[in-house]
Amino acid sequence: MAHGTGLGAPAERNDPGALRIGSIAGIDVMVRTSWLLVAALIAYIAAPGIEQVSPGLGALKYVAGAAFAVLLTLSLLLHEISHAIMAQRFGLPVRSITLHFIGGVTAIEREPSTPKQAFWISAVGPVTSLAIGGLAFALWQVMPEGLLQFVVGALAGTNLLVGVLNLVPGMPLDGGLVLRAAIWKLTGNPHRGTMVAGWAGRVVALLMLFSPAIMEWLGVSTGPTDYIVALLLGWFLWSAATQAIMSAKVRARLPALQARSLARRTLAVPEHLPLAEAVRRAQDAGAGSLVTVDSSGRPVGLVNEEAVLATPDDRRPWLPTSAVARTVDPGLTLRADIGGEDLVRAMQESPASEYLLLDDDGGLYGVLVTSDVDRAFSATT
Ligand SMILES: [Zn+2]
Repeated sequence: MAHGTGLGAPAERNDPGALRIGSIAGIDVMVRTSWLLVAALIAYIAAPGIEQVSPGLGALKYVAGAAFAVLLTLSLLLHEISHAIMAQRFGLPVRSITLHFIGGVTAIEREPSTPKQAFWISAVGPVTSLAIGGLAFALWQVMPEGLLQFVVGALAGTNLLVGVLNLVPGMPLDGGLVLRAAIWKLTGNPHRGTMVAGWAGRVVALLMLFSPAIMEWLGVSTGPTDYIVALLLGWFLWSAATQAIMSAKVRARLPALQARSLARRTLAVPEHLPLAEAVRRAQDAGAGSLVTVDSSGRPVGLVNEEAVLATPDDRRPWLPTSAVARTVDPGLTLRADIGGEDLVRAMQESPASEYLLLDDDGGLYGVLVTSDVDRAFSATT
């Protein structure tokens, strides 16, 4: 149903509540335990209907119910796969597809770069569900009565329902993402799109929350189950819409973060130079950071400011600078012109306290200190 680009959050890869069931086109496909519970519930709810169309099945009706739940899961997966394939077509890497209690999430690693891409990635999901539902409905009409027809009919109903519900224009539903793309197109501002679609999502959540009361008011009788379901779905939609609004606020501030303007001037020193001498030279040069280089002048270590401060003055003349430096791994080297979301993603992929910034020609530009980035980010509020 929903799909999105969480800023980083690779945590779900080792999510203990999710079961990896395979991969399609290099995308991890996962099922959360919450979905397995819902699937079991669906099998249980479908069983009496199955009993009616094919009496005498006995306990086998639950097996048939489970088979229906599996088919339903597969059709929901097709919905998510359609989002994933569309994203890949636009060159956006897709990390995973996860089914959870109310549908699925396709985790796309990068934001679509145009409203058109955003529109198609979102719209293809409900279109896929409506197509599956329509196909199943056509099949249902020409099939002989019986168990198989019942299952095909139930698949038609659920997929049509999923397709229609996902057209509701509030985030996190696909329709909300379509609305976001439309506002983005109109205003040229993706964050404004998210704010509008997020607030629309909150309205949808409130309508869901009060739906049993609204139904009562319209003269439809409701039971306690309706209130529980409305509470669960309403709460889920509210928190997802709120999350979208929050992330839009964060994202709107990201372009202000530019590595080049946050960089500290750095001084390159030989690895074996005593720390005291390195610090003295850095102070003389007005450099806010230190990088160690090997005999050929290649940067090999990033000096950690906290480690320097933690080293007592009387130890500094006897300690080689390399002792307080972290080896420059590939992930710790960034281009000086990186900024915004790309910068945040690069930092999340290789968490560190310092990063080496290189010029276009590979020359040493400076050092980016994580705490400087954090401070700059808090200052933009
Ligand atoms: Zn969807």
